[in-house]
Amino acid sequence: MTNRYSTWLLTALLAAPATTHAQAKLNVIAATQDLASIAAEVGGDRITIDSIAKGYQDPHFVEAKPSFILKLQKADVLIVVGRELEIGWLPPLIQQSRNGKIQQGAEGYLDASIGAQILEVPTGQVTRAEGDVHPLGNPHYWLDPENGKRIAKEIGDKFSQLRPGDRAYFDQRVTDFTSRLDAAEKRWLAMMAPYKGTKMVSYHRSFPNFAERFGLNIVGYVEPRPGIPPTPQHTLDLINLMKQQNVKLVLVEPYFDMKTPNAIGRDTGAQVLVVPPSVGGTKEVTDYFKLFDYDIALVVNAIKQSGAKQP
Ligand SMILES: [Zn+2]
Repeated sequence: MTNRYSTWLLTALLAAPATTHAQAKLNVIAATQDLASIAAEVGGDRITIDSIAKGYQDPHFVEAKPSFILKLQKADVLIVVGRELEIGWLPPLIQQSRNGKIQQGAEGYLDASIGAQILEVPTGQVTRAEGDVHPLGNPHYWLDPENGKRIAKEIGDKFSQLRPGDRAYFDQRVTDFTSRLDAAEKRWLAMMAPYKGTKMVSYHRSFPNFAERFGLNIVGYVEPRPGIPPTPQHTLDLINLMKQQNVKLVLVEPYFDMKTPNAIGRDTGAQVLVVPPSVGGTKEVTDYFKLFDYDIALVVNAIKQSGAKQP
């Protein structure tokens, strides 16, 4: 027994240098849990992954914490949503990390929006006038699985650039993720098909990509402009619009005050539905696939219950 154990130990010790010789895992930090979920799909066991903003937080307004700087200090790669989604909180953290690898424009900095389809891009002058938090188009683009595939490809390319020896591994994982997402998307489209064109309103403009992909018609918003809290006049106008158009659903992101949506619901008879726009937005939504599973089941059930008139 002792002898066999010694042999095993010797083998293990001899094998050890081979493992230490292998490149260390890429330390990847994602700005949001959505990007972290996709990065984990692509990176597999060649990366470690962590995120900064949690899915139950408003990604435009995240409270900066010292622990975020610590995460960034050790990162090899930082993946951001971009389109100025994180402009209110992330740039100072990146700067304070003093990590040259992940500064904007550095090799380890990846803006996940570069290959994505971006909706609501302003055609006029780019401005944050009146506090509009979507000056470079709608930054909630991950809510379309087609964009999920594009994000995965960008992440795979970035990982391969930093770890050329693992390119085949990352490529294979992107292909695998894409085919699983294709299959899931077919299922989601079939679930939503009977409700094509159903009118609804949402609190913030989080769901245009989702609505476009799955055939929903978002006719108004509780916020007068993205990032601007509801005003009495705007709420009144929205209520009138909903009554005119027989809108029976209000989607609310989990981090907004329910007072105005509930008042709108009472006045119009619409159902008020809390819909997470992100992985981590509620405890069941633990990855990118479950985000669509959850939201689509929620919306389909609500449409059925509300008797929302189909066009
Ligand atoms: Zn937004």
